[in-house]
Amino acid sequence: MNSLQVSKIIPSFSWGSEKIFIAGPCAIENEEDLEHVASVLEACQWKFLRGGAFKPRTSPYSFQGLGEEGLKLLNRVSQKYHLYSVSEVLSPEEVPLVAEYVDVLQIGSRNAQNFSLLKKVGECKKSILLKRGMMMKLEEFLLAAEYIAEKGNPNIILCERGIRTFETATRNTLDLSAIPYLKEHTSLPIIVDPSHATGKASYVTPLAKAALSCGADGLMIEVLFLGLLKRQVQLRKRVLPLFPVIVE
Ligand code: PEP
Ligand code: MN
Repeated sequence: MNSLQVSKIIPSFSWGSEKIFIAGPCAIENEEDLEHVASVLEACQWKFLRGGAFKPRTSPYSFQGLGEEGLKLLNRVSQKYHLYSVSEVLSPEEVPLVAEYVDVLQIGSRNAQNFSLLKKVGECKKSILLKRGMMMKLEEFLLAAEYIAEKGNPNIILCERGIRTFETATRNTLDLSAIPYLKEHTSLPIIVDPSHATGKASYVTPLAKAALSCGADGLMIEVLFLGLLKRQVQLRKRVLPLFPVIVE
């Protein structure tokens, strides 16, 4: 279980000294909104822009994403604002397409034990953001990462995003103990997504702070409204005073 060793996430990004801060919309909807988020990220020195182009929706009637058009938008906007791009890939067949446009391929919670997908991204050269399955034990989470690494791709970022418990007051239950556990059992970076964990904007800031206190290597924040993004900028001001914020 200790076999995973990574030294670098993506070329020219040294995660050892910098936190991995990712933010952006759930699904890419239009260029204007994406540009807006990207400009704020660039200004507050968050280096990763996320956005879904292929969405794993619980309901088949929900918006499924813009597909390749969304990837093109993400690629264009992230380059313009000097950001790395992150987007989810849903199936092994789509890996080459998504890898053509983004820096980091996300494997979502619902696909965290889709072994043919894990093997396929293991063969690609891009970095992989592996989210914990909502019913996954930590040992299983690490074994899922092993599937990717075993195929030759060690550039994996683990993401705790909450698990299903008996508690229904929040969307999921954020498992903060995952952070020290994963730190003890692997050298892979571990980031925390308090947005999907709680499903509530007002809980994002306290849990983001808690995650960083527990040693998380970064955060993924889903941004829906400008107000929320502004709060994240303030959060950065408050909890990360070492990193100057140039946004008012
Ligand atoms: C997402 O990041 O938009 C997402 C669907 O997350 P998860 O796979 O954690 O539910
Ligand atoms: Mn989402």
